[in-house]
Amino acid sequence: MDFFYMPTKVIFEDNVISNFGQEFSQFGHKCLIVTGRTSAIKSGALEDLTRTFEAVGIDYEIFNEIMENPTVEIIQKAADTYKDFAIDFIVGIGGGSPLDASKMIGVLLLNQDMTARDLLTKGNVISLPIIAVPTTSGTGSETTPYSIITDHESETKITGAPKIFPHLSLLDVKYFMTMPLSVVKSTSVDALSHLTEGFLVKNSNVYSDQLAISGLKFFVKAMDDLKAENFTRDMHINLIHASTIAGMVISHTGTGIPHGMGYNLTYKHQVLHGKATALFLASMVELHISKDHELKKKAYEYLEIMGMKSPSELREFIWDLVGTFEISQEDFDEYVLKESQNKRKLDAHSFEITYEDMKKAFKESLILK
Ligand code: NAP
Ligand code: FE
Repeated sequence: MDFFYMPTKVIFEDNVISNFGQEFSQFGHKCLIVTGRTSAIKSGALEDLTRTFEAVGIDYEIFNEIMENPTVEIIQKAADTYKDFAIDFIVGIGGGSPLDASKMIGVLLLNQDMTARDLLTKGNVISLPIIAVPTTSGTGSETTPYSIITDHESETKITGAPKIFPHLSLLDVKYFMTMPLSVVKSTSVDALSHLTEGFLVKNSNVYSDQLAISGLKFFVKAMDDLKAENFTRDMHINLIHASTIAGMVISHTGTGIPHGMGYNLTYKHQVLHGKATALFLASMVELHISKDHELKKKAYEYLEIMGMKSPSELREFIWDLVGTFEISQEDFDEYVLKESQNKRKLDAHSFEITYEDMKKAFKESLILK
């Protein structure tokens, strides 16, 4: 089946927040701004938003405690703090962490009988309107219905059950230009992972493929500047296009085994999400090449778009950009076993991935201590 559905209005222009001005009132009169400790301030997005709200008469509260890889507990805290504030809508400012958290806080504020723990299992609910103002070009959360929640009880990251697309996403290149170097690099390869996984997994369709191909072309345009650490405005624009389009792709296709494998490195070793995932990309492409003819053809089409001859070239590019990762034998054994039983991620692919396949993929992708 080929289908496409993307209900988020995306506006990308300079001064997007102040230009939107009076139109914010359509969402109501009281806003909760959800963000992390620094990104909203450093990027200038918080100042633009509060100035605009003051000009158009929108009252606001600010919750700025969202950490990287937001937890069940922080989402509960935000909901508890603002449940009696008659919030009409939420603006999330920041990387994927605050944007994802906004969606889940919006669910809890609208459904006050739910707890944050219910978000892991209870899917059929809606949220307050969410406006996303991304400051990283990686997760594509501004165009996905996903929210990734860290759950210390199950010691991993889980996709929240409610699927909440933002109503609106406002993108301004200046908000991305304050990202630290490591965040630029890591988030860029998160976008690359979404495009690569989205292109190869079994739920890809004719529309998502066309988007994935165009997103990959934007990524390729940014590659030289990324490698040279020459972070120009044009490079950022290409990466924003790549990641926002990648969000549209994975909204339809979901992600594949690299995302599952990478969660272990982020949860247990605090490796940035993009790097943690991208380390496994080349092995996933290689697996496709080793399988049937159609998959092989698609994997080679992917490499051709990337301007690469082999998965090893992809691995080299990623290692050069974000570095490698060393792992102990004990962790290696644990993660291989866990991911070879990760049915949700394995099912994203159209062929069987065995324990031996998984072991090989981990071995090729990480450095054993
Ligand atoms: P992030 O965790 O949101 O942010 C990483 C770091 O970068 C934080 O320290 C943040 O500061 C800082 N930062 C962000 N933008 C900045 C800017 N413009 N200037 C200065 N500093 C900035 O990183 P992310 O990679 O974008 O998001 C990762 C999360 O998204 C993970 O939980 C991941 O699982 C999830 N994710 C979601 C989807 C989806 O579809 N929804 C897809 C993939 C991944 P502050 O802490 O101060 O904000
Ligand atoms: Fe991701």
